[in-house]
Amino acid sequence: MRALVLDHPGSFRVADVPDPTPQTGQVVVRVDCCGICGTDLHILAGEFPPTPYPITPGHEFAGTVVAHGPDVKPDLPVGARVAVDPSLYCGYCRRCRAGRDNLCENWAAIGDTVNGAFAEFVAVPAVNAYRLPDHLDGQLGAMTEPLACAVHGIRRLGLLGPVSAEPTVVIGAGTMGLLMLQLLLHAGAGPVSWARPGPSPTPARSTGPGSGWRSTRPACPRRSRPPSGCWTGEGGCWSSACRRPRP
Ligand SMILES: [Zn+2]
Ligand SMILES: [Zn+2]
Repeated sequence: MRALVLDHPGSFRVADVPDPTPQTGQVVVRVDCCGICGTDLHILAGEFPPTPYPITPGHEFAGTVVAHGPDVKPDLPVGARVAVDPSLYCGYCRRCRAGRDNLCENWAAIGDTVNGAFAEFVAVPAVNAYRLPDHLDGQLGAMTEPLACAVHGIRRLGLLGPVSAEPTVVIGAGTMGLLMLQLLLHAGAGPVSWARPGPSPTPARSTGPGSGWRSTRPACPRRSRPPSGCWTGEGGCWSSACRRPRP
C-alpha cells in the first residue's frame, strides 16, 4: 500500500509499504479520509516527544473495515463504516482504573506513537472502532475524533444538557474552537464570544442564537469573568484563559 512516511523530523515521503496484518482483536480499516491535526504538524517538526521515527502519522480518520484478526466481535463486519478513537490506553495503571484514561501512564496512540492513517490501510483495535451510518460522508466521519474532543470539553465545562445563559468565551478560533462554538450554540448557550491568538489582538466576535456574527468588546473582561475554554496550542493563551475569565 501507499503511505506517508516521516523518516525523521522535517522529512516525509510517500512510499510503498507492506499492508498491515490484523493481530488478535484488531481490524484493518481502509481509510476514506484523514484530517491533519496540529499534533501532526508538531510531529513533522519533531516537537512531540512520544513519537518515534520513522512513523506514518494520522489519527483523525474514518474508513471501512476490510479485514479481521482473531477474536473480533461480529458487530463489526467487513464493510462496516467506522470512525476510530486513536488513543491506546493500557487499562490497568492507576489513572486508567480511576477513569482518567486520557492521563494513562502508558499512553500510546495511533498516528502518534504507532503507524496511523496517512495511508491506504491501518490496523486498529476493534474496540477503538465505532460504527458510522453507511450514508455518512468520509470527510464528516473523520471529524468524529476532533468533535468528540470538543464534546468532552463541553462536559468539563458543565455545559452539556441544560445550558446556562451565561456569556461564554472560547479562546482560539481554529477547528477545535469553532467546533466548541457550534456545540455551545447548538446547546442553547448564552452569548458566546471568541478570541483568536496572534501578535496583534484580533477583535473578539460574539454570537448568540439567531444573532449572527457581530463585533463586540474585547473577549476577556476581567470584571465579568465568564466561563471560558481554551482551544488553542498558543502558550500565551493558556495563561490568558486562566488569568482573565473563569476557567
Ligand atoms: Zn488531533
Ligand atoms: Zn493506563
